[in-house]
Amino acid sequence: TFIKQIEEHNPNIRAFVELNYDEARKRANEIDDKIKNGQKVGKLAGMVVGIKSNINVEDFHITAASRTLENYQGSYDATVVSRIKAEDGIIIGMTNMDEFAAGSSTETSFFGHTDNPAAPGRIPGGSSGGSAAAIAAGMCDLALGSDTGGSIRNPASHCGVMGFKPTYGAVSRQGLLDLAMSFDQIGPFSRDASGIALMLEVIAGEDRRECTTIDWNVPEFTSSITDPENALKGMKLGVVKEFFDVSDGPIVNIIEDRINQMQEAGAEVVELSFDYLKLCLPTYYLINYVEFFSATRKYDGRKYGERIEEVCGEEVLRRIQMGSYISQKEFSGKYYNKALQARSLIRKEITGLLKDVDVLVGPTVPKLPHKLGTSLEPMEMYAYDILTVIANLAGIPAASTPAGDVNGIPVGMQFQAKPLDDEKIVQLMAAQE
Ligand code: GLN
Repeated sequence: TFIKQIEEHNPNIRAFVELNYDEARKRANEIDDKIKNGQKVGKLAGMVVGIKSNINVEDFHITAASRTLENYQGSYDATVVSRIKAEDGIIIGMTNMDEFAAGSSTETSFFGHTDNPAAPGRIPGGSSGGSAAAIAAGMCDLALGSDTGGSIRNPASHCGVMGFKPTYGAVSRQGLLDLAMSFDQIGPFSRDASGIALMLEVIAGEDRRECTTIDWNVPEFTSSITDPENALKGMKLGVVKEFFDVSDGPIVNIIEDRINQMQEAGAEVVELSFDYLKLCLPTYYLINYVEFFSATRKYDGRKYGERIEEVCGEEVLRRIQMGSYISQKEFSGKYYNKALQARSLIRKEITGLLKDVDVLVGPTVPKLPHKLGTSLEPMEMYAYDILTVIANLAGIPAASTPAGDVNGIPVGMQFQAKPLDDEKIVQLMAAQE
């Protein structure tokens, strides 16, 4: 079914940039045989999965949608990928993205843009636009993306699917090509909360090969969503005024309706205020530039593919140049150290707000996705990220779930919770279905 769907729609949507049907069929047959022989099968048995092109999968091309790595072939499986395979998930292909995950529209891919299956002719969001589009177009059951400043939640919002960014350190980044390693997290896309729960259960947990992972008791996410009717009873929802002030009217209306419904289902609303929203984008981008500059020094044309500066797109080059400039010794006190201080302040304020409530709820993205081919200034593109970068700056879990639409264009609602309260968000997502 999925292969048929991909063959029919992928040429127009371009959610996948590489596919391997033979291997997928082989794996499916092996799982079938196991079932026939009465052998035990894994949690993901028979589920078809798409993987963002910046996560290593053996024998696929791991290009990060850049010409720099056009011919780079994965020689090992990232930890998340080995865990998927160990649970009998079937990896069907690699999904499209913004070059090196640096974007919010999936327009900067070396392979060409991805279209939005839910709102054709518009961007699918990004940078994990291919993964979100693959789910929205029914090309696979589950997909993985990476989220540095919103790259899972933003395309989930624009494509009308669910996307989850775990607590920093809850899921291993081993085998992920870094954008900014102190923000990056891998997480799932799905059409429903049970898919999100299932994938989190498989990929979360400490990894000896990745030193920022946390040694935590991974909840049984799939069993914690069995009572969605009661999930909202007594739940304290924090509604931050500023998240609504920066969002477009029709989006605000949809989210407010949803909050009212949650209140009717037993949730309590607490109005909150966050004074540092204006600080979030500059802080995020300064740190992103510096960490990305550092991460790209290995693409010098000797070991992996081409020398990055010679072949990359405009946005990637901008970040490398800015990162190199900001990192100069004479500026350290001026930009990077200031950004680190601001980041601590933001983290303190946000976790402070979360002390009084269970989750923060609001829009995921403050505006609707633009039409493909519209040319945007960098600052206009960055403006999409204002509500999503907060969770990465603070290291907290956050997710986007479909909330409604404006003339058919999907709008997502974001939940953010305390570190390692990922389970609470999954329960709330299940209650939205
Ligand atoms: N749009 C943000 C950026 O360009 C976030 C990207 C991401 O999360 N990978 O950095």
